[in-house]
Amino acid sequence: MSVEPNIVWLKRDLRLFDHAPLVNAAQSAPLVLLYIVEPELWALPDSSRRHWHFIHDCLSELQDKLSNFGVTLCIRIGKATQVLEALKDELGSFSLYSHEETGNHWTFVRDKHVQAWCASNAINWHEFPTNGVVRRLKSRDGWAKIRDDRMRGDILAAPINVGFVADIKSHALPGKDDPMFGRLDIGNVQKGGREEGLRVLASFLKERGRRYIANVSKPGVSARHCSRLSAHITFGSLSIREIEAATYAKLKTLSDNADPDAVYFKRNLRAYLSRIAWHCHFIQKLEQQPDIEFKCMHPAFEGMREPHFRDDFLTAWKTGQTGYPLIDASMRSLHENGWITFRMRALLVSFASYHLWLDWRKTAPILAQLFTDYEPGIHYSQFQMQSGVTGINAIRMYNPIKQSMDHDSEGKFIRRYVPELKDISNTFIHEPWRDEQNLTDYPKPIVDHATAIKFARSEIKKRNGFEGFKEQSKLVNQRLGSRKKQPKRGIKRSSTKSKPSSQQLSFDL
Ligand SMILES: Cc1cc2nc3c(=O)[nH]c(=O)nc-3n(C[C@H](O)[C@H](O)[C@H](O)COP(=O)(O)OP(=O)(O)OC[C@H]3O[C@@H](n4cnc5c(N)ncnc54)[C@H](O)[C@@H]3O)c2cc1C
Repeated sequence: MSVEPNIVWLKRDLRLFDHAPLVNAAQSAPLVLLYIVEPELWALPDSSRRHWHFIHDCLSELQDKLSNFGVTLCIRIGKATQVLEALKDELGSFSLYSHEETGNHWTFVRDKHVQAWCASNAINWHEFPTNGVVRRLKSRDGWAKIRDDRMRGDILAAPINVGFVADIKSHALPGKDDPMFGRLDIGNVQKGGREEGLRVLASFLKERGRRYIANVSKPGVSARHCSRLSAHITFGSLSIREIEAATYAKLKTLSDNADPDAVYFKRNLRAYLSRIAWHCHFIQKLEQQPDIEFKCMHPAFEGMREPHFRDDFLTAWKTGQTGYPLIDASMRSLHENGWITFRMRALLVSFASYHLWLDWRKTAPILAQLFTDYEPGIHYSQFQMQSGVTGINAIRMYNPIKQSMDHDSEGKFIRRYVPELKDISNTFIHEPWRDEQNLTDYPKPIVDHATAIKFARSEIKKRNGFEGFKEQSKLVNQRLGSRKKQPKRGIKRSSTKSKPSSQQLSFDL
C-alpha cells in the first residue's frame, strides 16, 4: 500500500460523532475502522452477554450506516496484539488511533501489551481523552477545572469525505447469543445504538427529566424519570460531552422563564448535571489507582469480612431470597431488566456488605454482570464506598425496612417482582414475617437487622481505631478524594428515631 493507513480502534466509543481519534485520523486517510472482539475479555467474571447485546446493537447500526457508503466496519476476533499483527501483515505499517480507556484490570494490561507491541513495531499509537478523566494526573487539586474545560470544549462533527481502505477483510459480527459471551440468563436488555441513545436523550430533556429529583430514588418510577443514558455512556454510543452540552442547551431555553414549571424543570436538570460530573469523578479514582478493583482503598479493612464468608448468604442475595422484600424485589428486577436506580444499587450493596457481611470482591462481579451499564471506574469505587472500606467516606448502613417504607410505601414495586407477596396487605408488605395470618413461600429474613448492624458497626469501629488509621485516610483522600467538603466525622443518627425497627444507621469516619 502506497500511503500508510490509519486504523481507528473503536473500544467503548461506538459512534462516529464527537470522536477525536476518528477526526484526527481522517486528516490523513485512508482509514480502517476496527472493532476487536476479544474472547479473553468475554470470559472474565465481570463480563456478560447483557453487555454484548448492547454492544451488538451499536455495532450493527454502525455496520448499516457505513455500508450505505460502501465502507466495511472491520470486525476481528482475537487477541488485540495478534489482530494488529495480522493487520500489519495485510496492510503494511499503519498508525493507530483510539480513545484512552479506563477499564478493568484486564483492559489495562491489554493496553500495556498493545503499547509494547506498537513500540517494537514502530507503530504510532495516538490516544485521546475519552471524557473528563485525566491520565497521569499529578494531583486531584484542580482536577475539576480540567474536567469542566474538557467537557465544554467544541463538540466534533463526524468527518465527511473520508477515504477508507478498500476491500478490508472482516469477520462476521458474532451473534447476540454466541456462547463466547457467557450463559447468563438475561431478561430484557436495554436497546443499544446511537439512534436509540439520541431518542432517549431527547425524551429525557423534553419531559422525563422534569421530575428527576422527586423520582430518582423510587424503584418503580425511576426507570422512567432517570435519564437511562448510562449504558450509552459506558459503550459510547453517545459522548458524555454531547449529553452535557444538550442539557445546557435545554437549560438555556428555560433560562428567562419564570414560570414555576420551568423553574422546577431547571432545578431538576441542574441536579442531573451534577450527577453527570460524578461519572468522571469516580472513574478518575480507578485511573489513578487501577488496583481498587481488587484492594480496599484503605488497607485497614483488608481481611475484615473474608473469614466470615457465608456461601448461603451470597446465594440468597444474588437470587433475591433474603426475606427482605425491597432487597429481593430490587435484585429480581435487576435480573429481569439489567438496570436499577442508584439508591437501590446502594441498598443492595449495603445489605450485602453490612447485613450479610459479604466481601465486596465477591459481590461486585455479580452486579457487574447484571448491569447493562457496567463501568468499572464507577462500579468498584461505589462498591468500596457502599461497603465502608475507603476510609474517607461517610458510612451508610441502610435499613432495608425504612428504605422500603420511604421509597415503595404502597409496595407496588415489591408486589411486581416478588409475586409471593401479592396478597400481603400494605400493613405488612415491608415486614411480611409479622403477618401471622398469611403464610407464603417467601423466606423469613436470613439475618436480624439490628443484630447484623450492631456487629457491622463494632467491626468497623475496631478498624477505625487501628494505629495510623487517620494518616492512611489522609493519603487516600489526597490521592482519590473529592475536593468538596467532606461531612463531619463522628457518629450521627438519622432523624427517624421514632421507630427503632426502621432506623437508618449512619456514621461518619
Ligand atoms: C454499587 C453501585 C454500582 C454502580 N455501578 C455503576 C456502573 O457500573 N455503571 C454506571 O454507569 N453507574 C453505576 N452506578 C451509578 C449509578 O447508579 C448509575 O450511573 C445510574 O443509576 C445509571 O442510570 P441513569 O443513566 O438513568 O442515571 P441518572 O440518574 O440519569 O444519572 C445520569 C448519569 O450520571 C452518572 N451517575 C449517576 N449517578 C452516579 C453515581 N452515583 N456515580 C457515578 N456516576 C453517576 C451516570 O453517568 C449516569 O448515566 C453504580 C452505583 C452504585 C451504588
